[in-house]
Amino acid sequence: MINYREIEKLLDETGGRVSYVGVTHLGNPIPMVTKGNGANGVSILLVGSVHAREYITSYLLCGLLKDYEGQTRIDCVPVLNIDGVFLCRNGARLFPPNSKTLEELIYLNGGCDFSLWKANIRGVDINVNFDADWGKGELNTKTPGSENYIGPYPESENETKAAVELLRKNNYNMVVAYHSKGEEIFYGYGDDLRYKEHSLRVADFLGYRLKTSDNSAGGLKDYVVKQLKGYALTIEVGKDRFEHPYPMEELSALLKKHKGSLELFCDIGEKIAGRVYEGSHKAGPKS
Ligand SMILES: [Zn+2]
Repeated sequence: MINYREIEKLLDETGGRVSYVGVTHLGNPIPMVTKGNGANGVSILLVGSVHAREYITSYLLCGLLKDYEGQTRIDCVPVLNIDGVFLCRNGARLFPPNSKTLEELIYLNGGCDFSLWKANIRGVDINVNFDADWGKGELNTKTPGSENYIGPYPESENETKAAVELLRKNNYNMVVAYHSKGEEIFYGYGDDLRYKEHSLRVADFLGYRLKTSDNSAGGLKDYVVKQLKGYALTIEVGKDRFEHPYPMEELSALLKKHKGSLELFCDIGEKIAGRVYEGSHKAGPKS
């Protein structure tokens, strides 16, 4: 994804309905593609490219959506961090020569090679900018850079705000944020480890290890679990033996591995929705 036209092409190929959930700092509209009519009352959110160099997740998500024909509504924001991805892919060419923004970014990055950049265009790591124990993560930093900078305050970034607004507006039964790499799935937050069984199903299906993320804070998953009491996963797709950015030649292998996973999410989403429904109509403990 070197330019916006490439994102539009990816969205188009899914055959889904496109809407926009926000605008990045460089003025790029953040698209969402939706499939499934949601007649069963179940909805799921998928988010890709939270980290710039992990842009293979956008291709993975759009590729999976293309084949999806279920009833459950799947909202997908395949490229949350558009500006960051463009910086990672284009490097200094993204800006006119002598651009002040570019000079600052080169300073923050320690050079002109942006291929390992993770943050957004302001040097804020979106996945530590959410309002969930913001600034308490082990690797958090207080200075802008390629990764781990928490931002000046929670939800300071347009991309974070867009995600939060979407999450607050829709009561998603399941939220999945895609990252690369490590073949790991993170679930729960703090002491809240509900939905372990559902998470194990996903881990078994993909052959990835299930883990809790004990030393992180301020992430998208963390926000959903802590603030919305919802169900969210972080999936680290791809094998550790590859370098960042994850090689695009591996996309077809990833697509093969994840084939059928959206249908599994729908099944899990239905079960969670069923329990919420049951819980709201019956007295007694909700376990
Ligand atoms: Zn990541």
